[in-house]
Amino acid sequence: MDMEERKIDCPYCGEEIDVLIDSSVSEQNYIEDCQVCCRPINFDVTVDYEGVITVLVSHENE
Ligand SMILES: [Zn+2]
Repeated sequence: MDMEERKIDCPYCGEEIDVLIDSSVSEQNYIEDCQVCCRPINFDVTVDYEGVITVLVSHENE
């Protein structure tokens, strides 16, 4: 496992939170609760062949 820290903006409360991304997996989709408002954030993570991480966050029901 190769964990990298990223900052994202919560789609609910807009607060900036730190998340740990596993950069050894090229495509991931999971739910993680916001550390501030505790609502479930939907994470869409892609890691390209150069190891560049793209994190998209959205409401759970989108
Ligand atoms: Zn939040």
